Amino acid sequence: MAVPRKSKNNEDITFAKFKKSIQKYLNSYQIKKIEKAYNVAKDAHHGQKRKSGENYINHPLNAAAYLADYELDHETIMAAILHDVVEDTEISLENLGRTFGKKVAELVDGVSKLDKINFNSKEEADAANLRKMILAMSNDIRVLLIKLADRRHNLTTIGVLSKHKAKRIARETLEIYAPLALRLGIHNLSKELENLSFQTYYPLRHSILIANIDKARGNRKLLMTKTQSEVTKKLNSESIKSQTRAREKHAYGIYKKMKSKELKFSQIHDIFGVRIITESVDLCYRALGCIHNLYKPIPGRFKDYIAIPKSNGYQSLHTAVLGPHNLPMEFQIRTNDMNNLAQSGIAAHWVYKSKTSISKLSREQQWLNNLLDIQKQAGDPRELLGSIKEDLNPGKVYVFSSKGQIIELPKKSTLIDFAYSIHTDLGNKYLKGTVDGQFKPPDTILKNGQRIIIIKSEVSKPDPAWLNFVVSVKARTSIRNYLRNMHDTDAIKLGRKLLKTSLEELEVSIDDVPKKTLEFILSELKYNTIDELFKEIGLGNKIPKLIALRMAPSFKKKNNSIAYDIEGSEGLVISYAKCCHPIPGDMIIGYVSQGKGIVVHRSSCKSIKHTKPNDDNIELRWSENVDNNFSASIIIEVENERGVLAQVSSVIAQNNHNIESVNYTDSHDTGHNTMLIVVSVKNTNQVKKLIDKIKKIKNVYKAERKRS
Ligand code: MN
Repeated sequence: MAVPRKSKNNEDITFAKFKKSIQKYLNSYQIKKIEKAYNVAKDAHHGQKRKSGENYINHPLNAAAYLADYELDHETIMAAILHDVVEDTEISLENLGRTFGKKVAELVDGVSKLDKINFNSKEEADAANLRKMILAMSNDIRVLLIKLADRRHNLTTIGVLSKHKAKRIARETLEIYAPLALRLGIHNLSKELENLSFQTYYPLRHSILIANIDKARGNRKLLMTKTQSEVTKKLNSESIKSQTRAREKHAYGIYKKMKSKELKFSQIHDIFGVRIITESVDLCYRALGCIHNLYKPIPGRFKDYIAIPKSNGYQSLHTAVLGPHNLPMEFQIRTNDMNNLAQSGIAAHWVYKSKTSISKLSREQQWLNNLLDIQKQAGDPRELLGSIKEDLNPGKVYVFSSKGQIIELPKKSTLIDFAYSIHTDLGNKYLKGTVDGQFKPPDTILKNGQRIIIIKSEVSKPDPAWLNFVVSVKARTSIRNYLRNMHDTDAIKLGRKLLKTSLEELEVSIDDVPKKTLEFILSELKYNTIDELFKEIGLGNKIPKLIALRMAPSFKKKNNSIAYDIEGSEGLVISYAKCCHPIPGDMIIGYVSQGKGIVVHRSSCKSIKHTKPNDDNIELRWSENVDNNFSASIIIEVENERGVLAQVSSVIAQNNHNIESVNYTDSHDTGHNTMLIVVSVKNTNQVKKLIDKIKKIKNVYKAERKRS
């Protein structure tokens, strides 16, 4: 298994040198393809220089060489070489796909997309969520590996950038990319990213710390040699085949510990330690016994990551002891395999070892399986799998809010889900929304990394149709709650008014109904409150005239009945029939339909001709204050002429009416086309004026309001 060489900052890499490193593990066919990718990238970047003055191609080649140290597959290497061509040169993604295959193009596309994530408002964005978003966007985890190699090389040349820009990149690396590398178990890379960024972000602290480490190393030299020889002697005497290595904590690791535990440099005891590498798990535990026999263990400092691996798969035994001269010292004991995994992490599983079956499974799946294999040796698989799944979050999508915050939503979430996730009020007052600056319909499914802006309006209301596509629990319950509450209060209001009207026809005021009568009726109908009765009337479950007669049996019916006023603001308990689209000015009649409340029709509507007047219909009239918009349907016959629809819509728009829908039918026999347009208007006067104007359009043959 590959263990990468130590840092090779700014090392001058040539293609010849790079080729040698890939020849170690790739076949000649794959190397040929990589060479072609190199030539394409070199030509594409020709003439471009890095800020550091070197040829641009040096950068992608370095990134690729770094990944080759982990013996990553040839697709990853090709994509690393090509990772900047789509963004920075003339070459298109389609072009890459044709020349190098779909996979390579997808990897390059993935890296470009990560580059586009908006970090500007990161102060407000939560770093942990940003990491999750990046993981979620890296559909193929190799995308992230390339991005990390890209970032690593950029850091080695960061000195040439402006101080401000360099610091921003360093901070982003410390907050986002180094933890991601660690999360994927690539300890070496994570430490390298941290040290490089640390140096840039806190140059002074870094240099002081390095000086201190150098000094301490000098002091410790004899002690370390002594410890190593004591340990080796002891392990040999027990026939435990092993290697011992002195190890040193990396500078940023020391800094983090000093900061988080508020310690001085002299109080950090695990800067230097010993790592013991054995050939089997069994030998690890036996080696541990030897160490505890040789030196006194410090209580509470023993950790068994072999039995219970860390969530990134890391395995090792850790123990701290009082070493020679009673100085505290940390030991790490692990097998060779565990050691390789600790350094290369997820990358270790990408090694091109088996040419079979690799294409059958998705890479991610294979990675999980590999981790499961490791896991099988010991420990609780649920814990490992759970935490990896949590981080990879396949069921989540991450988008930016207008303020740059990262919002986590379930997959397939829409603009409406997003609005409700920000605030219930924003969802309830949703007017429209943009995705990456473009207006989109409310059921648009959101994708990782998109920036969403919602515009609300005080008069907007949740649309019951939203329930057909929202996926988040918050949106669903909020919409339902809103509709139910609105329904209830509206129904009570309407029911009260209907009953009042019915009682007035009997010349009875609702206050005149004796309390005893009221209580009797309520208990008979099994309602606890009068509001429940009003609600049932409002919903159309009880007929107001019948209830009124029960309440005032001795009163006589008045000759001329009183019609109920429609104000247009009754809400969901009053709806307007789609067959005839009644608007103020029309003669209307109401039909009570169970659970729906009252449906308003035009008196001339054909669909009600068949029903006889009975207790289910209610006389209605428009209130004088009604000022809402209503839907009116207009039939327009036009000549077979292109562009008429555009003319008609522009006339409608000029008169400040909205088009709600358009249906267009060819009729070949007459040579005329028929359009059915539903527009919003306030009353019959407006619709008449509009029709007159439409009639004046050239090529319009006929325009009239649809009857029913
Ligand atoms: Mn790059």
